[in-house]
Amino acid sequence: MAPEIIEKPQVIALFSQGLDSILAIKIIQQQGLKVQAVKFITPFFGYEIKGRELEFCEKIKTVYAIDLTIIDLTENYLKMLSAPQYGYGKNFNPCLDCKIMMLNQARILAEKRQAESIVTGEVVGQRPFSQRRDTMRRIEKLSLTEGLLLRPLSAKLLTPTRAEETGLINREQLFDFSGRGRKPQIALAKKLKITDYPTPAGGCLLTDPGFAKRVKTLYQGTSIPAAEDLNLLKYGRFYPFESSSFVIVGRNRDDNQQLLTTAAENHFTLHLAEMAGPVAILKGEKEHLAFAAEKLCLHSKAKELGSVKINWRQGDESGSLTLEGSLKK
Ligand code: SF4
Repeated sequence: MAPEIIEKPQVIALFSQGLDSILAIKIIQQQGLKVQAVKFITPFFGYEIKGRELEFCEKIKTVYAIDLTIIDLTENYLKMLSAPQYGYGKNFNPCLDCKIMMLNQARILAEKRQAESIVTGEVVGQRPFSQRRDTMRRIEKLSLTEGLLLRPLSAKLLTPTRAEETGLINREQLFDFSGRGRKPQIALAKKLKITDYPTPAGGCLLTDPGFAKRVKTLYQGTSIPAAEDLNLLKYGRFYPFESSSFVIVGRNRDDNQQLLTTAAENHFTLHLAEMAGPVAILKGEKEHLAFAAEKLCLHSKAKELGSVKINWRQGDESGSLTLEGSLKK
């Protein structure tokens, strides 16, 4: 569970955990305003926080003195991903719809809590498409946040928002950063004595070509994939079959461990009964166990053998099967 939202926040801020969003919030806090930060999570970003939201928010409060709450967008996000209104980026990333969804949520929260501004750490020109000035304006329009959405790091390059016009936020103390360079942000972080921040990284798995391809494959099935299935795609070797069924085989000890902890009640877990080897997870039916067992054996020394026993488990049920004939090809 995430902590309760603070009483009467004046500003709602999107928190990505990156330096830019930390700076944007600190700049506004320095003006004496109460900021409620929000971090959105889905199986594609921020999901490692799932189940330990409170601990994470406490850490952010301790390290940065930022009040944070977590909002899990998974259900709506997974639906949106099947047909994003504004299409996909280079991979399976629905950036426009994603940003609009987050800002819509922030706007609803701002309305509920009577906050007067929404703040993000976006910087004009930092990303090739989504942070182009015209795209930023388009996103404001489509999320109904025109006049409400403030980007403190680039504010001086953008039209003043209502909070600046009413004097709630002092525009003079905002910035005019632009472009991909990080120097101004790093200098500002130093000035604000922010030393503990993550280095910029991809962050969103939907921009990773290999992962995005797997997700796309599952979306070609008849129904919207479940979060539990998507989480498994982060590891191992992937063998899709039929509409939305698949087998994943761990590549190493770390994969095997992750697969075992990520598998849900409805997934089959398979391993070799008589020798060490990888773990395989099957999302499918009992009749597919032999197919999964074959994939498992192909990535183990068992492929040299004439007969291999494999144990499986699904929830409380367990059993074993034997593959006959060498799998060596
Ligand atoms: S990169 Fe990922 S998180 Fe960022 S806007 Fe695109 S889809 Fe959303």
